[in-house]
Amino acid sequence: MSTLQEKDLQYIWHPCSQMKDYEELKPLIIEKGRGPYLYDVNGKSYLDAVSSWWVNLFGHSNPRMNRAIKEQIDQLEHVIFANFSHEPAIKLAEKIVSITPQGLNKVFFADNGSSAIEVALKLSFQYHQQAGMSQKKRFAALTDAYHGETLGALSVGHIDLYSQVFKPLLLDTVRVEGPDCYRCPFGESRAHCDAPCFQQMEETIAEHHRTLCGIIIEPLIQCAAGMKMYPPVYLKKLRALCDRYQLHLIADEIAVGFGRTGEMFACEHAQIRPDMMCLSKGLTAGYMPLAVTVVTDHIYDAFYADYIEQKAFMHSHSYTGNPIACAVACESLNIFEDDQVIEKNRQMSAYIVQKVMEQANDHPYVGEYRQLGMVGAIELVEDKPSKRGFDWKKRIGYQIYKKGLEKGIILRPLGNILYFMPPYVVTEGDIDFMVDTAFSAINEFFGIKPY
Ligand SMILES: *Cc1c(COP(=O)(O)O)cnc(C)c1O
Repeated sequence: MSTLQEKDLQYIWHPCSQMKDYEELKPLIIEKGRGPYLYDVNGKSYLDAVSSWWVNLFGHSNPRMNRAIKEQIDQLEHVIFANFSHEPAIKLAEKIVSITPQGLNKVFFADNGSSAIEVALKLSFQYHQQAGMSQKKRFAALTDAYHGETLGALSVGHIDLYSQVFKPLLLDTVRVEGPDCYRCPFGESRAHCDAPCFQQMEETIAEHHRTLCGIIIEPLIQCAAGMKMYPPVYLKKLRALCDRYQLHLIADEIAVGFGRTGEMFACEHAQIRPDMMCLSKGLTAGYMPLAVTVVTDHIYDAFYADYIEQKAFMHSHSYTGNPIACAVACESLNIFEDDQVIEKNRQMSAYIVQKVMEQANDHPYVGEYRQLGMVGAIELVEDKPSKRGFDWKKRIGYQIYKKGLEKGIILRPLGNILYFMPPYVVTEGDIDFMVDTAFSAINEFFGIKPY
């Protein structure tokens, strides 16, 4: 073990980790990044197939992004955002309004995804309180949802690993059975589905709408749940349902926004406009913590009044609208325009599917390969005909993750689901390496030759 690793373990408590695991698998000390690759202090390279927790878009240490930061830092590093403003925030807000679905016109800044969710929940609650609807105190959300890990965000989320122990502290949430397309209880195929499972949503909302402020959803992909993908028709129906009962539709595009699904925003696949959209992760292309909650004029106007004691939205973070973060976010959006990123991603996405299917088609343990845009997921199952999964206690994903690291790829599976969410700067050669190495790790684990 190197001195850095020793000191790391002496002083640092890592996120989303059982620290005892680090006795066996030491923290990897990364020295630098270039494009989709990370390099450790020994010079070993790793393909970042998970975009460093889904944030990186244009590679590590990208020259354009680097320049944007350096230029901004020599101008202004930070300033209070109440009553003060700056060009990077103004430019960014204007760009965000222009690219998000029509009608989302006001941008509220925060500094991480969970905070953007808190902002949306608080806005929606306060909106209804101010309108005299004091019985509206809850939100509806899907099973297997993930919206972050602060208490409000955990409350609407539904992944026991994160929330179980905190249940006594959490808000009361109305839970709706979400779509499960791989194991569809209605026997629908993905291609021709009209979302019969939406009936559960209709029934639950019909029963509870009087006490609800809104419905929060991860559009098209429930990422943390294991890249569970469902069709746009579900979102179309949800928009209509929210209109019928006058509920806020809150789209959590923190993971799927900024081109991940093949469109700039996942809601575009369904041509719907949510009442609020939460964005973070890809917002700064993986450079700086920043988040926004974008809302309609209708919501904004409901808070507009003569005094601060009256109707103002009292929510703030010290680093709200940080200029450096806003400047990199602007540059990221410039890259989208200049390099026709969405167009190029479509071709790369098609290449990934083709490449994966060569190996996935007759694989004895690949239950399903699903992909949308630049997100692909391999669901490993013990028994293909019954789709029976592996016992999670076997930690199959974790074993494959460790093999992947040895082979120079960062996979970090979710349970038994291995996914690819690479930075957009990958080449076909990088994809070949990514897919071949992932399958070599899988096959080695299961003892299937060749690997
Ligand atoms: C990551 C994520 C969040 C939380 O964002 P943080 O910046 O990690 O707090 C919320 N919702 C979704 C869908 C996410 O993927």
